Amino acid sequence: MARHTESVCKLCRREGMKLFLKGERCMSPKCAMERRAYAPGAHGRTANFRRQVSDYGQQLREKQRLRRIYGVLEKQFRRYYGMALSSRGQTGANLLTILERRLDNVVYRLGFGDSRAQARQLVTHGHISVNGKRRDIASSLVEAGDVISINERSRNNGHFQGLTEVLEHQNVPVWLVLNPSAMSGTVASLPTRDQIEVPIDEQLIVEFYSR
Ligand code: SF4
Repeated sequence: MARHTESVCKLCRREGMKLFLKGERCMSPKCAMERRAYAPGAHGRTANFRRQVSDYGQQLREKQRLRRIYGVLEKQFRRYYGMALSSRGQTGANLLTILERRLDNVVYRLGFGDSRAQARQLVTHGHISVNGKRRDIASSLVEAGDVISINERSRNNGHFQGLTEVLEHQNVPVWLVLNPSAMSGTVASLPTRDQIEVPIDEQLIVEFYSR
């Protein structure tokens, strides 16, 4: 599976905003955006100030931000856009709903992993079940009514020790229902745009692909 191999903090610095790709570290003073809030590279310090960003540049950056938040590669993101375009309703909102329905995102939202990257690893390593059956495809999309849980056999794994107590304090989006003692969560309904907290203007992305 193709994946991003550079330091993910560089992605935040490139986009000029925190994308929260590293779990707890993102909330600490160690966050690269707290220490070096300018673009990476030799000219990073000056580049942000000099450049007048064109409409195209803004649309491109917004698309890249969203893609990087969810950790999706270009080809797959383009495919999601095609799905969003052919679905009923607003394309931008549809796109966000599709991304939010990815299994790795749901595992992250439920608090089983502290970043989407970690959640993806939990899925691909076979620790997650959907409706009682192991599912190891991070990009698979959940449906309303699906129950996502940590496999019985994985619960002794070091990563999950003490997780029940952590989950007691986990805030989950309204479209998910978390059951900390069962280490599971249910998709109460598919998310609508107003239930998806990502600081993105999806209309710019629609304009990017409509050029
Ligand atoms: Fe981005 Fe998190 Fe790295 Fe900060 S620590 S730069 S928010 S990935």
